[in-house]
Amino acid sequence: MIHYKTKEEIEIMRHSCLLVGKAHAIIAAALKPGITTMQVNNLVETFIRDNGGIPSFLNYSGFPYATCISMNNAVVHGFPNNTPIKDGDIISLDIGVFKNGFHGDSAYTYAVGEVSTEVKQLLRVTKESLYCGIDKARQGNRIGDIAYAIQEHTEKKYGYGVVRDLVGHGLGRKLHEDPQVPNYGKRGSKEKLKEGMVLAIEPMINMGVKEVLHLDDGWTVLTKDGKPSAHFEHDVHITKAGPDILSSFEEIEAAEKTNVNLSWSY
Ligand code: MG
Ligand code: MG
Repeated sequence: MIHYKTKEEIEIMRHSCLLVGKAHAIIAAALKPGITTMQVNNLVETFIRDNGGIPSFLNYSGFPYATCISMNNAVVHGFPNNTPIKDGDIISLDIGVFKNGFHGDSAYTYAVGEVSTEVKQLLRVTKESLYCGIDKARQGNRIGDIAYAIQEHTEKKYGYGVVRDLVGHGLGRKLHEDPQVPNYGKRGSKEKLKEGMVLAIEPMINMGVKEVLHLDDGWTVLTKDGKPSAHFEHDVHITKAGPDILSSFEEIEAAEKTNVNLSWSY
């Protein structure tokens, strides 16, 4: 069942979504070779709690950490750990904030130090595909229009693998609501988009094959061929006037550009 939000609820959600962006921006400023993903996780958790929120992912179906941190060949749902990040690593960080009864949920992939041209292209194209999907997030369109736009830009144009096992979702009082938002599919298919819907649109794009492996920890998802994967996610409110992006990359991108330890120009 799809939960349509009132204007008041949208503004509460916007606050949660923007807090997620601010938590990301702290990490965009702090990332460098030598920092551990556990330190990243703890910085995020402290920031969320200091701002009156609760990390959405902690204890979600038993997930044991505040954030999902997935490096290099990990697609999503990775555990933070005490291994230092190295020059050349890419870090997909997914953050959720629950505050005032509503969730925000946004992911971003960071490139630490110098990464290859191929990896830079993967990050650029994955981020672009998110905006291709968002451009279709308009009243009267269907979920399949978003899905098709993402698949077209990544799989058809660049030969990348669009992950099939994991999809975007509705967002609200629950972290995962209806409808599902796949990153592949047919134009004009699935649910019709209507004002008041909030969708977490989140392309998970592999440089190589689309197939993934699920680790024994019950959570971590890896690419089957060991090649890198990227993940960008925005929360989008459907309106009659067009897509209203509740989350923001603005502060993340500004922090990225001033952090000499990150590759951001791609
Ligand atoms: Mg997420
Ligand atoms: Mg999500």
